[in-house]
Amino acid sequence: MDNNSDNSYNKKSVTDITVNGKKVLLRCDFNVPVDKQTGAITDEGRIIAALPTIEYLIKQGAAIIACSHFGRPKGGFDAEFSLAPVAKCLSQHLGRPVKMAKDVIGPDALKLADELQPGEVMLLENTRFHKEEEKNDPEFAKKLAEMADVFVSDAFGSAHRAHASTEGVSHYLPSVSGFLLKTELDNIGKAIFDPKRPLVAILGGAKVSDKLGVISNLIKKADTILIGGGMAYTFFKAEGGSIGNSLCEDGEIDNVKNCLQEAEKCGVKLMLPVDSLCAAEFADTASPLAVDSGAIPDGMMGLDIGPRSIVDFCKEIAAAGTIVWNGPMGVFEFPGFAEGTRAIAHAVADSSAVSVIGGGDSAAAVRQFGLEDKITHISTGGGASLEFMEGKVLPGIACLLDA
Ligand code: AMP
Repeated sequence: MDNNSDNSYNKKSVTDITVNGKKVLLRCDFNVPVDKQTGAITDEGRIIAALPTIEYLIKQGAAIIACSHFGRPKGGFDAEFSLAPVAKCLSQHLGRPVKMAKDVIGPDALKLADELQPGEVMLLENTRFHKEEEKNDPEFAKKLAEMADVFVSDAFGSAHRAHASTEGVSHYLPSVSGFLLKTELDNIGKAIFDPKRPLVAILGGAKVSDKLGVISNLIKKADTILIGGGMAYTFFKAEGGSIGNSLCEDGEIDNVKNCLQEAEKCGVKLMLPVDSLCAAEFADTASPLAVDSGAIPDGMMGLDIGPRSIVDFCKEIAAAGTIVWNGPMGVFEFPGFAEGTRAIAHAVADSSAVSVIGGGDSAAAVRQFGLEDKITHISTGGGASLEFMEGKVLPGIACLLDA
């Protein structure tokens, strides 16, 4: 589905409705990382991120029935994928009990939900214990919905999936966003649809096929598009340059040519990295070679943008009113090829522009460089933010009540 419009992010939130005395089905993203050996939660970030909405709902006198998926169970109860450790952790953060249901829509969940009082919190078991969750089965969604009076969605990272607990339940309940989802919509939505100009998009990463949708959409919206990462080399090949053994998706060359033409037609400044740091193999070599990006010698591959490209890109970033960034400029996991991504991250952090970073690798890079506090918004949903920037309608957002 596309194309989202200016008001596709303008949705009602939990503060726009009355929740006092109501039972609220709250979709969280509790898909936390765990230690494979011990099962202990290794990063509580997603649980902490859910607290503002939960605490608000408690204060408003709602009874909260939280739910989430967790990992990839095969269907049916599986202790390895139980949300019980999340309930314990959530309870510690809230300083109040969180009642853990033994099932999702079974007798235990129904009984707990039925008896739940205003201000109390319970957590359903992993929604993926039912295969119907990912199939967005209407009967399953209806049973989930029947426990509550209102649906609050706070799982942006799952909003691009039409699952029963992200979209299906909205057919049976008035549905609004929680604070976490609202922050994502406000920040990404404003950056794309109502940006302070110039809007500079920085796109990188390995696969051009993953990013063509975003590039096409941003050509209609951005003033400048900076392209780095492995995907830049398909552009150089499309322009007739030599790229040695650099990453290239030959099947995308026609699409890339179309993008270049489209950018020119729309008057968008689409910039490729004029130089690259190269190596003879995909390895962290001690002395990377800087060469022109369209003239990479045979047997070499470009693994980062070069120093001249950094200067060019940083100049655009410094003049930006709004910046959106998705994908690293090089193989930043190798210290010898991290400079491009580091320099861009610093330029984004130092700029006075509104800065929005899609999840995934660029978010990881910004955190690795300790710059997260200097970014306006780092998305919690890699896939979801990419689809939003592609102009797609996200089913978990489209289903919410319009503001
Ligand atoms: P993506 O998931 O498409 O955003 O790609 C992220 C990955 O792209 C990171 O793991 C980087 O190491 C990788 N990457 C970035 N630049 C290059 C490059 N020039 N050659 C190979 N891989 C790259």
